[in-house]
Amino acid sequence: MEFLTPDKTHDESRQGEALVLEPVEKNNGRKLYIESYGCAMNFSDSEIVASILAEKGFETTSDYNNADVVFINTCSIRENAETRVRNRLKEFAGAKGKNPGMVVGVLGCMAERLKSKFLEEEKLVDVVVGPDAYRDLPNLIDRVDEGQRAVNVLLSREETYADISPVRLNSNGINAFVSIMRGCDNMCSFCVVPFTRGRERSRDPHSVVAECQDLFDKGYREVTLLGQNVDSYKWNASQLADGSEPSGEDLGEAAEVVNFANLLEMVALIHPDLRVRFSTSHPKDITDEVLYTIAKYDNICNYIHLPVQSGNSRILDLMNRTYDRAWYMERVDAIRRIIPDCAISTDIITGFCTETEEEHNDTLTMMDYVQYDYAYMFMYSERPGTLAAKRYADDIPEPIKAMRLKQVVAKQQQYSYVRLQQHLGRVEKVLIEGYSKKSDKDYCGRNDKNAMVVFPVQEGYKPGQYANVLVERCTTATLIGKII
Ligand code: SAM
Ligand code: SF4
Repeated sequence: MEFLTPDKTHDESRQGEALVLEPVEKNNGRKLYIESYGCAMNFSDSEIVASILAEKGFETTSDYNNADVVFINTCSIRENAETRVRNRLKEFAGAKGKNPGMVVGVLGCMAERLKSKFLEEEKLVDVVVGPDAYRDLPNLIDRVDEGQRAVNVLLSREETYADISPVRLNSNGINAFVSIMRGCDNMCSFCVVPFTRGRERSRDPHSVVAECQDLFDKGYREVTLLGQNVDSYKWNASQLADGSEPSGEDLGEAAEVVNFANLLEMVALIHPDLRVRFSTSHPKDITDEVLYTIAKYDNICNYIHLPVQSGNSRILDLMNRTYDRAWYMERVDAIRRIIPDCAISTDIITGFCTETEEEHNDTLTMMDYVQYDYAYMFMYSERPGTLAAKRYADDIPEPIKAMRLKQVVAKQQQYSYVRLQQHLGRVEKVLIEGYSKKSDKDYCGRNDKNAMVVFPVQEGYKPGQYANVLVERCTTATLIGKII
C-alpha cells in the first residue's frame, strides 16, 4: 500500500536491508554482514555498529554466505516483526553449517527483550547485544572467537553514541537520519520500547549540530532528527560529563538548557538549503513553541507525525497515552492555526483490549476531523511484559481487529488521495533525490510536506538540488508535474 507509507521512518521496502560500506583502511581480513529490521532508529544504529567495527578492520559484505560475522538488528514492536527475524535466523543456519567459525549475533530490541534466553532458544546464535552495548561488540566477538557465547544487554542512562560518527550506508548522499535521543520514558501500555531501549536520554545538541553541519558540507540536503518522543528532548550542560547533577562552579554552565524547539532552530540555522524533518512527536508534549519554530523557518518542513493510536478517550486512557480525544484535537487545531499549510500523519492501532464498536468509530471520526495526509495502521499485537499484557485481556478476536483495520485503511486511502489532490496546480519546491523507480527519464523527490513528486529530467538540474515543480496530476501515491 504505497500510498500509505511515504514516510521513511519505518520504510517497509528497507526491511532486512544489508549494509555495505566503502572498503576500510586497516582491514583485518574478516567480513561483516549486517541487516536491519524495524524503525529508522535501528537502521541508524546499524550505521553506528558498522562504524565501531570498521575501526577494528571489519569489511562489510552484502552476502552472508561470505561473512565471518553475521549480525541481525532486530525489532520487537509487533509479534510479526519477531517472527520475521526467527525465520531469517533459520536461513543463516545453512551458511553457518558450511562455515562453523562464523559468528552469528542478534542486536537491538529483540536481543534486549529476550536476553540470554535467545541463546537457549536459538542454538545458532553466539552473541546477544542490546542497543546500549554496541561499544562492547569487539570484545564480545573476541569472546566468541575464544569459544564462548556472549551476552551484553546492559541498558545505560547516558549512552548516546554522540562521539561516534555513523558511517552513512546505502545512502543517496542527500537525506540522512540523525538520532537526537535514545530510549523512552513514556509507558504506553501496549509498547515494548521502554523495556528494550531503556530510559530516555538526550544527546548533546552541539554534537547533533556538528553532525548535521558535516552532512551538509558533504552535500546532504535533508536531515531527519530522530527520537521516540522528540518533543521531550531536553539537554542541560551539566549532563555533559557524566550524567550527574551540577554543583558549585558547574552551576553557571548548567544554565544552558536546550529544548526541542531550540534544537530545531540550531539545526535550521546551519543553512537555508538544509531541510530539517523530525519524528516522532508525542501529542502530550508538542508545544506551541515548537510549532512557532517550524513556522519561522522555511527549511523546517511543514510535516508533523503525530500518532493518535485511538480516537477514543477511554481507550487512550487504557493505553496510558496521557492525553484524551479533546486534547489531541486541540493540538491539531493549534497546528492548523500556527502552520496553516502543514501535513499531518499518524499511527493507529485497531482492536486494543476491550475496544467496542462505538469506540472504534471514534477513531474513524477522528480521521474525518484531521484528514491525515498519511497513516501507519496496525492491529493490536500483545507484547509480553508490557503493562497491557499484564493488566488487560487481549480480548478482541483477530477477525474483528482485521475488519476494523480494513475500515481504517479504506478511510485513510480516501484522505491520502484528497490531500494529494490539494497540491494540483501548485508549484512545489522539491528536493531532487534521484531518478524515479520507473524511468531514468524522470526525477523523483519530496516536497516540504513529504509527498513524492515525479517530473521529467531537465538539463541543469541534478539530485541534491531543489526544483520548482508545477504539479499537474497525481496517482494515489505520487504527484506528477514538470519543472518550471
Ligand atoms: N514513539 C512513537 C509514538 O509514541 O508514537 C512510536 C514508536 S512505535 C516504534 C511505532 C508505532 O507502532 C506506535 O505508534 C504504535 O502505533 C505501533 N505499536 C507499538 N506497539 C504496538 C503493539 N503492541 N501493537 C500494535 N502496534 C503497536
Ligand atoms: Fe512506545 Fe509510547 Fe514510547 Fe512511543 S511514546 S516509544 S509508543 S512507549
